[in-house]
Amino acid sequence: MEIGKKVSHTAHCLVLSYPAQGHLNPMLQFSKRLDHKGVKVTLVTTLSMFKTIHRASSSSIALETISDGYDEGGMANAESIQAYLDRFWQVGPQTLIELVEKMNVSGCPVDCIVYDSFLPWALDVARKFGMLGVVFLTQSCAVDSICYHAQKGLLKLPLTGNEVSLPGLPPFQPQDMPSFIYDLESYPAFFDMVVTGQFATIDKADFVLCNTFYELEKEVVDWLAKLWPLKTIGPTLPSMYLDKQLEDDKVYGFSIFEPNSEACMKWLNDREEGSVVYVSFGSLAALEAEQMEELAWALKQSGKYFLWVVRASEEAKIPKNFPEKTSEKGLMINWCPQLEVLAHEAMGCFVTHCGWNSTLEALSLGVPMVAMPQWTDQSTNAKYIMDMCRMGLKAPADEKGIVRKEAIEHCIKEILEGERGKEIKENAGKWKKLAKEAMAKGGSSDKNIEEFVANLISFK
Ligand code: UDP
Repeated sequence: MEIGKKVSHTAHCLVLSYPAQGHLNPMLQFSKRLDHKGVKVTLVTTLSMFKTIHRASSSSIALETISDGYDEGGMANAESIQAYLDRFWQVGPQTLIELVEKMNVSGCPVDCIVYDSFLPWALDVARKFGMLGVVFLTQSCAVDSICYHAQKGLLKLPLTGNEVSLPGLPPFQPQDMPSFIYDLESYPAFFDMVVTGQFATIDKADFVLCNTFYELEKEVVDWLAKLWPLKTIGPTLPSMYLDKQLEDDKVYGFSIFEPNSEACMKWLNDREEGSVVYVSFGSLAALEAEQMEELAWALKQSGKYFLWVVRASEEAKIPKNFPEKTSEKGLMINWCPQLEVLAHEAMGCFVTHCGWNSTLEALSLGVPMVAMPQWTDQSTNAKYIMDMCRMGLKAPADEKGIVRKEAIEHCIKEILEGERGKEIKENAGKWKKLAKEAMAKGGSSDKNIEEFVANLISFK
């Protein structure tokens, strides 16, 4: 069989995603890649998430649900993060078993579960049915390696000293580490899930897939590959932005907020090449009101055109009358088609919270970044953007943890007009090329996906 061409289905994979936009996007995209290479895929998430998502008609991937115990509202309806995760861990595995049983009698038996590393109990479900259990990491290999070291007790916590040295990674300042590790008290429930739970059984999985690409994280990938059967399979952007092997694959397909696409693209079309500052903090981050204010005035003071995504739940923090005062220069919307925006020729730079998907998207589309990390893995991603990829600047925070308007404005101007901006733009072009090559036929990630599919078929 020639892999890489659309063929009749050879194996059936359940792809189980944690219910968050930043997990659904890469796992859905990976599902499309498997489907393209002849594997039947059913994407699975929680019923509460299923009820929220807007689905693009172009997505051909079947969607099924399990329960997190909060079928109405998900985490937002739980008493606490801990209560949500406890209930999810009780109810999730049983409902996943029921789903597999339903599929096995429906004439479409399951051969493999590709599970989000945040939901490690899915490995036991795969084993119960004698299926392949494959873990999918949605964070960078650098972050995974740091958390793995912490879980195994190889990284002593709380952190002491000035510098952290780990194999395959550059020296990190403590504040460049993921927030759960740098500040142990910040989110204890997430620490248990992201650090302890995620890596306790990773060495037992049949394969470990990671949404990154070899050329981006060579040293740490080589190091982790000695421990795990690791395959880098990213960046997981829709194919039309990269290798174009999947015809018409232009959008992820599931969105938890409805994008205001028309207004946004129309506005961008009227802007000059490389002139717009795009600002977004992703689907989850909540900024301090003071931070929001500093950002607003930085945008105004910069005198640049800006497109600012502020989710409805964050709108109350926008300074009074700011949209009216800046309407000639700025457009503010609740959600946008981020890929289309980043790929637009008017794009100048991206002020980002450095979520891993946003980072990979900007890198793949060659957009320089102003890094303003907020929590979880974002500070480590920011370090990569600035020091390893050298395709952005991190706007420094003051002792209160607030990034002041002068710092943001300086980074924006430096990128759009300054000397450093020239080098940053050159590097951005290089990373764009490397990302595309990784996913193109014969590229590092494409080869890894083919090998994975071949293993899946031979297992069946
Ligand atoms: N996104 C989008 N429209 C927006 C803002 C974000 O489509 O207005 C998408 C973005 O392209 C990315 C995802 O939402 O794929 C956010 O994931 P990321 O890992 O960057 O951040 P998170 O939301 O998990 O913090």
